Amino acid sequence: MQMEKVFSPKRDRVYYVEIDSRKTKRNRVIGDLLEICADIFYIGAGDKLGQIETTNLNEARFWKDKKAAEWAGMKYRDAIINVKEMSTKDFVELIEPIGDDYVSKKNKKLLKSEKKYLRELDELLEPYVFKNHKVPNDWGKWQKCPKCNLRPLVGDFMKSTSCGCGEDGDHLFVSAYSSKHSNDPKVNYYYMKELRKRWNRKVENMKK
Ligand SMILES: [Zn+2]
Repeated sequence: MQMEKVFSPKRDRVYYVEIDSRKTKRNRVIGDLLEICADIFYIGAGDKLGQIETTNLNEARFWKDKKAAEWAGMKYRDAIINVKEMSTKDFVELIEPIGDDYVSKKNKKLLKSEKKYLRELDELLEPYVFKNHKVPNDWGKWQKCPKCNLRPLVGDFMKSTSCGCGEDGDHLFVSAYSSKHSNDPKVNYYYMKELRKRWNRKVENMKK
């Protein structure tokens, strides 16, 4: 039997690094006094070994992995490092790598894969009514709706699910075990699991 390939969601974030040395900090303080905007420096523009700073965000190095960005920042021993994040959507819309250096090549590759991912996500969400609902991480474990044959998406705060049965106003909503939302990922994982059980049970009952 051939295994079905199930879409798995990615983190919709990319990371870049701001570097603040004594010199740039001084410039900012003077800039504030004179009411002019001092430059912000980012890690970017350079080869693999000798990354150099740039004030142009378009030339900054972007990472998909936050740890890798932090690691790159650790090389600047005397500087204050700020790992910043940007949404994948903004990254795709705003950043246009031009050069042919190591960093530009890396960013071009990342842009290509992120664009492809967003395209696939768009196609996937096409038949759903609530496109802002999220694809759960363990999507393969959620059974397909017997009516529309789509796996459900999960609503904000994990209170409900929605499949593609929307056109006749007949959404499938399944309430989660608790309507509470927690900032603790471990607790949310528990709510999500509970919601999945309820969804799968509902599907089983519909098949009977
Ligand atoms: Zn359905």
